[in-house]
Amino acid sequence: MDTSHLKNKLEAELQKLEGELTSIGERNPSNPADWEAIAPDMNIPAADPNEVADSIEEYETRSGELKELEIRYNEVKGALERLEKGTYGICRIGGEPIEPERLEANPAATTCMKHLENPK
Ligand SMILES: [Zn+2]
Repeated sequence: MDTSHLKNKLEAELQKLEGELTSIGERNPSNPADWEAIAPDMNIPAADPNEVADSIEEYETRSGELKELEIRYNEVKGALERLEKGTYGICRIGGEPIEPERLEANPAATTCMKHLENPK
Protein backbone atom coordinates (compact mmCIF):
# COMPACT_ATOMS: atom_id res chain seq x y z
CA MET A 1 0.00 0.00 0.00
CA ASP A 2 1.25 3.46 -0.86
CA THR A 3 1.21 5.41 2.38
CA SER A 4 3.16 8.50 1.38
CA HIS A 5 0.11 10.74 1.05
CA LEU A 6 -1.23 9.43 4.37
CA LYS A 7 2.10 10.29 5.93
CA ASN A 8 1.79 13.82 4.56
CA LYS A 9 -1.70 14.09 6.01
CA LEU A 10 -0.52 12.85 9.39
CA GLU A 11 2.43 15.23 9.44
CA ALA A 12 0.22 18.18 8.54
CA GLU A 13 -2.25 17.23 11.25
CA LEU A 14 0.51 16.78 13.82
CA GLN A 15 1.84 20.23 13.06
CA LYS A 16 -1.60 21.77 13.34
CA LEU A 17 -2.28 19.99 16.64
CA GLU A 18 1.06 21.06 18.00
CA GLY A 19 0.21 24.67 17.21
CA GLU A 20 -3.15 24.36 18.94
CA LEU A 21 -1.60 22.62 21.93
CA THR A 22 1.06 25.27 22.43
CA SER A 23 -1.56 28.01 22.24
CA ILE A 24 -3.47 26.68 25.25
CA GLY A 25 -0.97 24.47 27.02
CA GLU A 26 2.63 23.69 27.65
CA ARG A 27 4.54 20.48 27.26
CA ASN A 28 5.38 18.63 30.44
CA PRO A 29 9.20 18.94 30.56
CA SER A 30 9.63 15.45 32.00
CA ASN A 31 7.20 13.75 29.59
CA PRO A 32 7.00 15.15 26.03
CA ALA A 33 3.80 13.18 25.32
CA ASP A 34 2.02 14.96 28.14
CA TRP A 35 0.62 18.47 27.93
CA GLU A 36 -0.69 20.67 30.66
CA ALA A 37 -3.07 23.57 30.37
CA ILE A 38 -1.47 26.91 31.07
CA ALA A 39 -2.28 27.71 34.68
CA PRO A 40 -4.90 30.36 35.32
CA ASP A 41 -3.69 33.86 35.90
CA MET A 42 -4.03 34.28 39.64
CA ASN A 43 -2.45 37.72 39.71
CA ILE A 44 -5.89 39.25 39.81
CA PRO A 45 -6.45 41.83 42.51
CA ALA A 46 -7.80 39.66 45.30
CA ALA A 47 -10.90 41.77 45.77
CA ASP A 48 -12.65 40.40 42.69
CA PRO A 49 -13.96 36.86 43.23
CA ASN A 50 -15.86 36.98 39.94
CA GLU A 51 -12.71 37.37 37.94
CA VAL A 52 -11.07 34.59 39.89
CA ALA A 53 -14.05 32.33 39.17
CA ASP A 54 -13.92 33.25 35.46
CA SER A 55 -10.26 32.53 35.38
CA ILE A 56 -10.72 29.11 36.97
CA GLU A 57 -13.60 28.31 34.62
CA GLU A 58 -11.49 29.28 31.64
CA TYR A 59 -8.71 27.06 32.92
CA GLU A 60 -11.08 24.11 33.21
CA THR A 61 -12.40 24.64 29.69
CA ARG A 62 -8.84 24.86 28.46
CA SER A 63 -7.89 21.66 30.29
CA GLY A 64 -10.77 19.83 28.64
CA GLU A 65 -9.83 21.03 25.16
CA LEU A 66 -6.23 20.22 25.84
CA LYS A 67 -7.06 16.67 26.86
CA GLU A 68 -8.90 16.07 23.55
CA LEU A 69 -6.09 17.60 21.53
CA GLU A 70 -3.55 15.57 23.45
CA ILE A 71 -5.36 12.30 22.75
CA ARG A 72 -5.52 13.10 19.04
CA TYR A 73 -1.92 14.29 19.03
CA ASN A 74 -0.72 11.01 20.51
CA GLU A 75 -2.85 9.02 18.06
CA VAL A 76 -1.33 10.85 15.11
CA LYS A 77 2.14 10.56 16.58
CA GLY A 78 1.63 6.83 17.12
CA ALA A 79 0.55 6.42 13.50
CA LEU A 80 3.70 8.17 12.29
CA GLU A 81 5.80 5.90 14.50
CA ARG A 82 4.09 2.85 13.03
CA LEU A 83 4.87 4.17 9.56
CA GLU A 84 8.53 4.39 10.57
CA LYS A 85 8.53 0.87 11.97
CA GLY A 86 6.60 -0.60 9.06
CA THR A 87 3.67 -1.71 11.20
CA TYR A 88 1.30 0.94 9.88
CA GLY A 89 -2.20 -0.02 8.75
CA ILE A 90 -2.42 -3.20 10.83
CA CYS A 91 -5.43 -3.69 13.08
CA ARG A 92 -4.22 -3.68 16.66
CA ILE A 93 -6.94 -6.15 17.68
CA GLY A 94 -7.05 -8.74 14.94
CA GLY A 95 -3.73 -8.07 13.20
CA GLU A 96 -5.36 -7.87 9.76
CA PRO A 97 -4.77 -4.99 7.34
CA ILE A 98 -6.98 -1.96 7.93
CA GLU A 99 -9.23 -1.05 4.98
CA PRO A 100 -7.60 1.65 2.82
CA GLU A 101 -10.81 3.71 2.85
CA ARG A 102 -10.78 3.72 6.64
CA LEU A 103 -7.21 5.01 6.63
CA GLU A 104 -8.22 7.67 4.13
CA ALA A 105 -10.94 8.82 6.49
CA ASN A 106 -8.73 8.60 9.57
CA PRO A 107 -5.04 8.04 8.83
CA ALA A 108 -4.44 7.51 12.57
CA ALA A 109 -6.87 4.57 12.80
CA THR A 110 -5.57 1.66 14.82
CA THR A 111 -8.32 -0.87 14.10
CA CYS A 112 -10.12 -2.19 11.06
CA MET A 113 -13.78 -1.35 10.60
CA LYS A 114 -15.00 -4.62 12.09
CA HIS A 115 -13.09 -4.05 15.32
CA LEU A 116 -14.10 -0.41 15.42
CA GLU A 117 -17.67 -1.52 15.94
CA ASN A 118 -16.76 -4.35 18.27
CA PRO A 119 -13.80 -3.23 20.32
CA LYS A 120 -13.44 -6.47 22.24
ZN1 LIG B 1 -9.51 -5.87 13.08
